[in-house]
Parts: sequence; structure tokens; C-alpha cells
Amino acid sequence: MKNIILLAPPAAGKGTQSKLICSEYGYSHISTGALIRNEISKGNKELLEIVESGSLVRDDIIIELLKQALNNVKGGVVLDGFPRNIAQAIEYDKLLSSLNKKVDHVIYLDLPKEIAKKRITGRVSCPNCGQVYNTLIEGGNSKVEGICDVCQSQLIKRVDDSDEIFENRYATYLKETKPLIEYYDVKGLLRVVDSSKPAEYIFKKIEEIIND
Ligand code: AMP
Repeated sequence: MKNIILLAPPAAGKGTQSKLICSEYGYSHISTGALIRNEISKGNKELLEIVESGSLVRDDIIIELLKQALNNVKGGVVLDGFPRNIAQAIEYDKLLSSLNKKVDHVIYLDLPKEIAKKRITGRVSCPNCGQVYNTLIEGGNSKVEGICDVCQSQLIKRVDDSDEIFENRYATYLKETKPLIEYYDVKGLLRVVDSSKPAEYIFKKIEEIIND
């Protein structure tokens, strides 16, 4: 099993694709965004402010959360939302090499900004099973409005899924995260998938990469 990184702008489908990879191939899914939302749900106001501003959480906090999550993992890992900048990528390289492991694939889910924005505006998700829906995309909504098709929980909107915060998140992505494309391309690890296509198409392309 491999160590896979999904690199993408906001709303490119990192969460959805991570779940598909994990359920099909038995990988472990680590979403640093979900780890942070978990800390926020326990009352961490400082993290809430950062997430609501669309900026990145401090590297040392993220690395600590990541290390804890990796402790519980055996086999392959899909990282969703990490690394988000070059410093985190360097830390991850060090961490993996101390465990005699390496990054196998970095899959860049490429998506134009305007489509990302539309996806964010309509996005709702299930706090229980993580299933994502979209009220603005044809065929993207749940069968019963506001209720998860999979586990019947009440769907919620993420605090940072608003038009305004999206602009800041996207600016952060361009400044901090996009340089990782070159960082991994130079290492020969980068693979690009057109993420404007339907989820099934994207997953097929990801499968081709994983099984390569
Ligand atoms: P995500 O669910 O990946 O869109 O992340 C939601 C928010 O959590 C981001 O906008 C950041 O504020 C924070 N976050 C998630 N992952 C990281 C990371 N690797 N480094 C710093 N901040 C992060």
C-alpha cells in the first residue's frame, strides 16, 4: 500500500475522493481539516477564528495532530488537506523517512476557481458519515432536502463555506499551497487529474494512478 497526497484548491473533491479510495482499497484517510473541525467542536475558539478567516493553522499544531493520527494507522494513507505549504511538505518528508517510508503519489485535483466557488456555495455535508452534497448542482442534492441519504443525519453547512471566506481560502491556496505543485513535480511524484469532471471519472483516473 502506498502513501498518497491529494493536493487541490478548496472544493475540488479531496474529501469525496479520499473516501472512495479508502472504501475501495482499505487505505486510511487523514483529513487535517476534519482534525481541526474536531478540535473546534471541543471548543477551541482560536482555531475557529483561523478557519473562519480562511488562513492556515500554525504548522506545529497541524504536525502534532497529524503525528497523532498517523500513530493509529497501519498500511497506506491518503492525506487530504496536508501538506498545505512547503514547510509542512519538508516536515512530512522527514517524518516518513524516519519511518523508512516515502510519498508515493501526489495527485493534483485541478479545478478552475469559478467552478470551485460554485461548489462551495452549494455544499452541505453530513457531520456523521462525511457524505457531501451540493444543492446548486443538478443531481447533487440529497433525496430528502437537508437529510443524509446514507445515514439520515441532519446535513450541515461548514462555517467556512461562504462566498467571502472562499475568496480568502482561495488566496491562501494560491500563495501557500500551489507552490507544492512544483515541489512535487520536480521530485517526479505529481499526477494531474481534471477535477471539473464528475466524481466517478475522477475516481477512475485516481485508480489508474494508484494501480500504476
Ligand atoms: P479543509 O477541510 O482541508 O478545507 O480545511 C479547512 C481549514 O482547516 C483550512 O482552511 C485551514 O484553515 C485549516 N487546515 C486544514 N488543513 C491544514 C493544514 N495542513 N495546514 C494548515 N491549516 C489547515
